[in-house]
Amino acid sequence: MQGGMGSGVEFLRGAPAGVGVGSLAFAPAEGDHCMTSIYGRLAETGETVTVTLDGARIAAVEGREDGPLAGSVLGGPDVWVAPGFLDLQVNGYGGHDFNHGARADAGEVSTELEPIYALAARAGTPLLCPTVTTNSRARMVAALRALAQVLDANPDLDAATPAIHVEGPYLSSEDGPRGAHLKEEIRDPDWDEFQALQEAAGGRVRLLTLAPERPGALEFIERLVGAGVVVALGHTGAEPETIRDAVQAGARVSTHLGNGAHAQIRRHPNYIWEQLAHDGLTTTAIADGHHLPAAVVKVIARVKGAARMALVSDAVSLGGLPPGRYEGGRLEILPTGKIVLADTPYLFGAGHLLDSCVANTLRFTGCTLAEAVRMASTTPAEILGLGVHKGSVAPGFDADLTLFRLPGGEGPLEIVATLTAGKVAYRA
Ligand SMILES: [Zn+2]
Repeated sequence: MQGGMGSGVEFLRGAPAGVGVGSLAFAPAEGDHCMTSIYGRLAETGETVTVTLDGARIAAVEGREDGPLAGSVLGGPDVWVAPGFLDLQVNGYGGHDFNHGARADAGEVSTELEPIYALAARAGTPLLCPTVTTNSRARMVAALRALAQVLDANPDLDAATPAIHVEGPYLSSEDGPRGAHLKEEIRDPDWDEFQALQEAAGGRVRLLTLAPERPGALEFIERLVGAGVVVALGHTGAEPETIRDAVQAGARVSTHLGNGAHAQIRRHPNYIWEQLAHDGLTTTAIADGHHLPAAVVKVIARVKGAARMALVSDAVSLGGLPPGRYEGGRLEILPTGKIVLADTPYLFGAGHLLDSCVANTLRFTGCTLAEAVRMASTTPAEILGLGVHKGSVAPGFDADLTLFRLPGGEGPLEIVATLTAGKVAYRA
């Protein structure tokens, strides 16, 4: 499909050169008709079906072993139909940064936010959580306010944003657990400050990552949970007992387990084993092939299972850009797509989106396609408490869908179409 709403040219700014672009921006899947049919195999069950959409919702899912109904406009017999991938952690992509208000000095980084959604949709992700990271209160407020203004003005992007994720500033200041978060801006939990962040975001902060060992963190977790915010543990060097206390206080998630950690730790007990073993914690993991060895992804997947493991990209603004040096030579994208602090082995965020992570997870863990898709779609929706209407291709559920082919059974994924709330956000 060509056309759409016509922002394709703008979208290309900052995107990798030479990459083909299908239809971009949000358009009804079939002109202005509100009923749309999709034909393919359900990733959840393997059944061949026709999925009928009615506006933003799925109206019906019917077995169709004898071919598509007349009028089906998307899909095909070799196309997998999955609940839309939901990425809980996206800092930016393609030269654009959700933290632009906090990174105004970062040279190549654009202040435009819409292209991040378009690039994510092209990679099969119709739903994402913009992630705002550690900075001064003023800069975090500025980033959240700018984001809220964009979402207020664009209902399609708002529908693609089930939550804003705030990662920091209440994290460990130790080297290792701190990761790439700014040391001088890391601080103790502050309820007044959180309220200012939440107000700037228009109430959209529904996931917050913190380190539970910071003074006041346990009471802060209780207040966040009381306010409807999902609390994740991350960038932490906490003792196992503190991890358990945090879960007792209401924390439910581990953020990118195995990253944002010391390079060397006591073999046991430690915060990784504790979070891995705790049945009260669902974990996220970065399966980009750089952040975790394949064996670690496999162990997390086997221990937690697909119902308690969500794939996140943790993509950053340099993701998707050509290899080379950026930001005055401080950062480098290697030919493999790995993003590092130049001349060091240290990672500076991820350059791949969930389509890569799903394919990697299939290869690294030996899980089924249904399990990998659950980790990309259903479990993240459940983490946000949205599992009653997102994360399954079923009647009454939101029509957020990812359609793809899987050559050879393990990818890489070929994205066929991405729909957000019944509208085509990308079509190859
Ligand atoms: Zn992080």
